[in-house]
Amino acid sequence: MEVKLNIPFNKPYLTGKETHYIYQAVQSGKISGDGMFTKKCHAFFEARYGFTKCLLTTSCTDALEMAAILLEIEPGDEVILPSYTFVSTANAFVLRGANLIFVDSEPTNPNMDVAAIKALITPKTKAIVPVHYAGIACDMDGIMELAKEFNLFVVEDAAQAIDSYYTGKDGIPKPLGSIGHLAAFSFHETKNIMSGEGGMLVINDARFANRAEVIREKGTNRSAFFRGEIDKYGWVDMGSSFLPSDILAAFLFAQLESLTLIQNRRKEIWENYQKAFAVLALNGKLVLPNIPAYASNNAHMYYIVCHSLAERSALILALKEAGVMAVFHYLSLHTSPFYAAKHGDRVLSNSDYFSDCLLRLPMFYELSNEDQAQICAIILRFYGFSAD
Ligand SMILES: *Cc1c(COP(=O)(O)O)cnc(C)c1O
Repeated sequence: MEVKLNIPFNKPYLTGKETHYIYQAVQSGKISGDGMFTKKCHAFFEARYGFTKCLLTTSCTDALEMAAILLEIEPGDEVILPSYTFVSTANAFVLRGANLIFVDSEPTNPNMDVAAIKALITPKTKAIVPVHYAGIACDMDGIMELAKEFNLFVVEDAAQAIDSYYTGKDGIPKPLGSIGHLAAFSFHETKNIMSGEGGMLVINDARFANRAEVIREKGTNRSAFFRGEIDKYGWVDMGSSFLPSDILAAFLFAQLESLTLIQNRRKEIWENYQKAFAVLALNGKLVLPNIPAYASNNAHMYYIVCHSLAERSALILALKEAGVMAVFHYLSLHTSPFYAAKHGDRVLSNSDYFSDCLLRLPMFYELSNEDQAQICAIILRFYGFSAD
């Protein structure tokens, strides 16, 4: 009899240094925001990716909300974003009263279809929010050209996109998160590098740098005060509390020190899947991830695309019965209970296709080669192929 597997969809990886750094943060006596470890994390990102200004936040959701405040999104403004995304991409702008204009995915990739954006731009359009799905870059040259032509802001939802790059027409690889006016990253435990909950706002347009600090500190100029730039601080703008405790930053810093190690293993796992399923793609059984020439792969996620919702449900069940957790992903936001009526009846068939057919497979640092081979064998068998 076969032994039932017990393979979770995700397992957060601990480098072993997290609790040591948390101890140091606690001992330092400064455990609120912007302490020693927050500064170390900021310095890491600035050095490794050349981000000119970054601010840790308590989540990517918060970083997106900060972005919407910084762009002064007002009721009636329109924001263009993919329908195939997480609710936080949309909520940040809804909270400021914006109308969401959903754009379809590309036919061969869940990312926003840049060719479909122009027809959606109106005099009320204020921003475009590309989501780098699975850490795979959107067509950023196309998006930035539209932004320039129509005087729009670009906020990259780079929640899944740490350590991933875009190489546009100039041939220079640019880290995702460094291209739009603003960008938001997530360190939620389901992401490559994590602190349980956590996020970061990257400010690439210097016009937003000072105000971002103020908004993050409850609308006060406390950050400038702590740097000794002013002799008292006060309430100067709207804001909220978006900065994480240094305890969280200590956790995150331990992860950042192991970023290369984590990324290398995740890429191996990703490649193993891609190799194992090549035969299924060749025989038209499955569609595998399509990585455009301009995008790198940060191995955030491994997904396959089935032919139908029914087929995907059957495959999820087959995996579950064998003890493997695989999950589908976003339900298109344009058909959601909250937004369907406001969206109207404009059809976004590619977004619906990925909602129905995309399946995410277990993808985490500690997934063993043996377990992964078992997962592949189950899927190959499901489609009538053998594993060897
Ligand atoms: C994870 C994720 C978020 C939210 O991140 P949090 O840090 O949990 O707030 C937003 N957008 C996308 C695309 C995500 O994958």
